[in-house]
Amino acid sequence: MRPSRGSTFPALFFGIGCWVSGLYKVSKAVGQWAGDPGAGPWGLAVRGGCGYRVPGTRYRIGAEGRIPSTENRVKRAHRVCIPRPVSCILHDGTSRGRGYPLMPHEDLRYRRILLKLSGEAFRGRQPYGIDYEFLQYMAQEIGSVHALGVEVAIVVGGGNILRGSEAALQGLDRALADYIGMLATLMNALALQDMLERHGMVTRCQSALEVKEVAEPLIRRRAIRHLEKGRIVIFAAGTGNPFFSTDTAAALRALEIKAQVLLKATKVEGIFTDDPLKNLSARKLAHVTYQDFLQMGLRVMDSTAISLCMEHGLPVIVFNIWEPGNLRRIVLGEAVGSTIGPGQGP
Ligand code: UDP
Repeated sequence: MRPSRGSTFPALFFGIGCWVSGLYKVSKAVGQWAGDPGAGPWGLAVRGGCGYRVPGTRYRIGAEGRIPSTENRVKRAHRVCIPRPVSCILHDGTSRGRGYPLMPHEDLRYRRILLKLSGEAFRGRQPYGIDYEFLQYMAQEIGSVHALGVEVAIVVGGGNILRGSEAALQGLDRALADYIGMLATLMNALALQDMLERHGMVTRCQSALEVKEVAEPLIRRRAIRHLEKGRIVIFAAGTGNPFFSTDTAAALRALEIKAQVLLKATKVEGIFTDDPLKNLSARKLAHVTYQDFLQMGLRVMDSTAISLCMEHGLPVIVFNIWEPGNLRRIVLGEAVGSTIGPGQGP
């Protein structure tokens, strides 16, 4: 006797329901093993090294949780489904899984920071280009605050390779020279990204100029999501506009991602009345207000950046990046370097 339609369809739907929920659980389990509790289940399975083949079809469900296009189907057809838990050893000997949002250290003064590293820092002891020894050191310093659970975003400069204003004096068109300068920041960003990853940190590089082969486009909400997931975000190519500086980009990005503080790394102890490397009687200022900074014509950061910080009440700390442990001391609330902010300071 043929079964009636009334009994076939509920059974069919029940079957499909069981299959889909099974698929979800398998994916979720694989994802958790792969060690990234922050993302959706489909994404997790894929990021662990695994696409999921829909039974009875040639399709795999990808990171986006949808059946891929014909072109992608061909590409993914041979992907091997081997989820792998990835762990890493931090420079201080501690070990943790990749991609975990960290539990913040309870004494943290700042939970989300924006660190501005100028090209000068990348040059280190070299006359030009990138000092890889310094990059190693930077990765250790950044790793030490990241391990405390601090969300770290970084804006990199490019003055170690090219400054638009200087190139314009040599005869290049200023706007073009500035674009070249922005591309220089991208080189620094990629070098730093590699070094941070070698030290076990998970990073993303976002560029204000489109270079999709090597960096994500600048997407504010995505950057915030990366930070929430414990990834370090490196912002490259400044503001994406000529006639600006990476200091301004740092202020802009800090406000965009709602960083609690902008940390300006320099090679001196803070803000001085004059250049302490040239004038030995220059006095260090523990705190200056935004207005004083602008009126005194101090040059440690550019005035556009400080004006932006002033308008939105973003505190700035200028400190010596060459002093090991300074970054960590700052996020734990110690008075290091000089502060720029409203009123009398902290
Ligand atoms: N630049 C730009 N727009 C920006 C940021 C940077 O045109 O929003 C160019 C500019 O030519 C600048 C160069 O990129 O001289 C490198 O940046 P910057 O001088 O700020 O780097 P740093 O002084 O921090 O090394």
